[in-house]
Amino acid sequence: MPTFISAPRVRGISVPHRKHTDDSATAAITPPGEVVIPLSMHIGRPAEALVKPGDRVFVGTLIAKATGFISANTHSSVSGTVKALREITASDGSAAACAVIESDGLFEPDPGIRPPAVTDRQSLMDAVQASGLVGLGGAGFPTHVKLAAPAEGKPPLDILVINAAECEPYITSDNRTMLEDWEDLKAGIEAVMRHCGLRRAVIGIERNKPRAIEKMRELFPEKGDVEVLPLRCSYPQGAEKVLIANATGRAVPMGGLPADAGVVVLNVTSAAFIGSYLRTGTPLVSKRVTVDGGAVLNPGNYRVPIGTPISHLLSEVGWEPERAEKLLMGGPMMGTALYTADYPLLKNNNAILALTSEELGVYRIDPCIRCGRCADNCPMGLSPVEIALALEQKDLTRMRNLFAMNCIECGSCSFVCPAKRPVTQTMRLAKGSIRKAGGR
Ligand code: SF4
Ligand code: SF4
Repeated sequence: MPTFISAPRVRGISVPHRKHTDDSATAAITPPGEVVIPLSMHIGRPAEALVKPGDRVFVGTLIAKATGFISANTHSSVSGTVKALREITASDGSAAACAVIESDGLFEPDPGIRPPAVTDRQSLMDAVQASGLVGLGGAGFPTHVKLAAPAEGKPPLDILVINAAECEPYITSDNRTMLEDWEDLKAGIEAVMRHCGLRRAVIGIERNKPRAIEKMRELFPEKGDVEVLPLRCSYPQGAEKVLIANATGRAVPMGGLPADAGVVVLNVTSAAFIGSYLRTGTPLVSKRVTVDGGAVLNPGNYRVPIGTPISHLLSEVGWEPERAEKLLMGGPMMGTALYTADYPLLKNNNAILALTSEELGVYRIDPCIRCGRCADNCPMGLSPVEIALALEQKDLTRMRNLFAMNCIECGSCSFVCPAKRPVTQTMRLAKGSIRKAGGR
């Protein structure tokens, strides 16, 4: 049995919860007449288009194929006709190739859809790759890659950690997964454990979701091989390395991956989707998203076809655009600000927030007072001020030696900074300059 590095418990910071939509059961919206589906919504090699204008597609038709191991398939979320292939400007400013599909309003499933035959680890990985699943909690990393057997010399994988912390303010879509999709969640966890040879699973849930904790305890009895672990409400409890430390007591080495600690981490909605895909064979074509914020008239959780323009979703839910100071994809700590509501909903979006100036607060940026709070509260043990200085001096070696690339962009440093300095943005710039120089 390999020995893993022990990790001290990570305490994190207190952020307002604002989980107004905890009790909001998932509702449907009137689907849009047209979806704009980015062909690549994942980290890794871009997917290759398989359709052209004029092609007829169904719900679940493969429209772009993965081009390597770290790549993901993309499927149509509606039945209808491909109108165009065109580029849009992604939220990070890059160009994203998209399929524009006119819906016929019938939502006919692709006739080729059937549940996959899964008998072992490889067939599970093949099925998960075919489904188009990427990490649904944030970054969009292709999920099948996480299920691979460890490379030679690496420790065996023995624990599955289910990330149900949902520590970002406002977002409640994972909570609804546990309350509404629990059968698929159970089946997904069991399939991953069985086929990947994982002896134990831990479902980490922040204590502010008592109904989800109760539901999971009903599903997984005490002293079984699946532990339901209520976690302290602290941010960023759901960050992969923080969760591994707090749920297993193991540390992921600096620059390492969860597999280096013998752990597979899956977001709870990803695990539920695996259960659903094994049962139905329907690929990833829709998402449950929390829509909230002071400018939203009917906050709640909604099931939405991927590629739906956010402007359509917000008009369906009801909003006051003139009151929306900031439009976010994701939560206020780690979400991406959108420059336009015409942007489409992606696979890894779990929330759309339209926040007012009252919610955002008005503040001014002051000079750094060297209080050290940013470093004290960094869950990765980084020194943001020193990294900022190295960035200013264009000292790449020092930035690397200070492990700038280990920043998970959680936003805790900016949140605690009394001078309201854009510390996280500076960390992003530091990481960007290291990447630009071809480094890690
Ligand atoms: S430096 Fe990075 S990891 Fe540390 S608190 Fe700031 S954003 Fe989070
Ligand atoms: S928390 Fe803000 S003021 Fe304090 S050291 Fe960090 S950047 Fe400077």
